[in-house]
Amino acid sequence: MASIFTKIIQGEIPCEKIIETDSEIAFLDIMPCAAGHTLVIPKLEVERLEDLPAEQALSLMRTMQQVAKAVSTAFDGIDYNLILNNGLNAGQEIAHVHFHVLPRAKGSPGPFREHVQYAEGEMQEVGAKIRNCL
Ligand code: AMP
Repeated sequence: MASIFTKIIQGEIPCEKIIETDSEIAFLDIMPCAAGHTLVIPKLEVERLEDLPAEQALSLMRTMQQVAKAVSTAFDGIDYNLILNNGLNAGQEIAHVHFHVLPRAKGSPGPFREHVQYAEGEMQEVGAKIRNCL
């Protein structure tokens, strides 16, 4: 589905581009959670990670590693999170798969602050359920 990211890929709206390859583009997030907050997206118009052909997913990962290293180096070796919001309930606002490279300075509020408690045996069930889908 076309989204605002399609317009960025096609150069119809501007972005602060970090890098562009045949298959990906990385650019700064317009509402950054930290300076250097970067989005890495495939050019292929797919909504969810699992919609991306495996070769394209590998290519995306390669570019993401390159971009993440550059972001870190640019901010004196800063730590970072790689975040993918996959689907509405996971906080995905733009229906075009994208990874966030999110720099984390000392004292940054960490992600994953919410926790659920597994019931007795539930953790093993969930593990098996996921493995069955591999
Ligand atoms: P998500 O919630 O994972 O879908 O994240 C979408 C991200 O896209 C948000 O962090 C927005 O700030 C960012 N965003 C939306 N429009 C633009 C744009 N035109 N240029 C750069 N980043 C954008």
